[in-house]
Amino acid sequence: MTSIAIDGPAGAGKSTIAKKVAKELGYIYVDTGALYRAIAYYLLTQKIDIEDTIALQAACDQITVTIAYENDVQQVYLNDDNVTPYLRTEETGNMASRSSAKASVRAALLDLQRNMAKEYNVVMDGRDIGTNVLPDAEIKIYLTASSKERANRRYKELTEQGIAADFDQIEADIIERDARDMNREIAPLKQAEDAVLIDSSDLTIEEVVKTILSIVGNQ
Ligand code: C5P
Repeated sequence: MTSIAIDGPAGAGKSTIAKKVAKELGYIYVDTGALYRAIAYYLLTQKIDIEDTIALQAACDQITVTIAYENDVQQVYLNDDNVTPYLRTEETGNMASRSSAKASVRAALLDLQRNMAKEYNVVMDGRDIGTNVLPDAEIKIYLTASSKERANRRYKELTEQGIAADFDQIEADIIERDARDMNREIAPLKQAEDAVLIDSSDLTIEEVVKTILSIVGNQ
């Protein structure tokens, strides 16, 4: 099996690009952020205090997160419920950003991610795929962009959906989320030594996809 790991900060375009690369290659796309969001959704709905280590561990022991594909689109199940429609809210994203720093949450998702890569050719995106989940991945990409550009993309995305957005607030949130992901003790976001760095600030989606496909082709 071949694995392509794409890590990087929020809003760098990882999921859009990973999906396209997976489609081109006939690989499965695994969005690992959605797994952390599924646990976050559970923690929010069950009102679990994530600073209460025992309660958090008990919660992680009670849940099973699984992945299924419907028409090639990843669906995340929390126990028997498909929670995919609830995962993209700001509230869930914020909780995912905080709870993903906790050891019990990270441990609960590790085997699922590794098993996916054992069973399928995958393009897997996240924060610690190349460094921690799949250290032997054949291809590792660290995809980033300036915080201004990432905030700009998010701002456009929201306003295009008719959602009121404050650019400065979005950029501040992005910077805060990056800091949390990069400075946590367990599996922090960082570029793996053998990862190829791509800064997408001045590149189109298609240019990034092409670059990654050419790296794959040269292997
Ligand atoms: O990528 P996405 O915004 O969906 O991820 C939600 C949160 O999950 C991130 O802010 C990050 O803290 C966490 N995450 C992680 N490790 C991954 C993927 C996501 O810690 N592999």
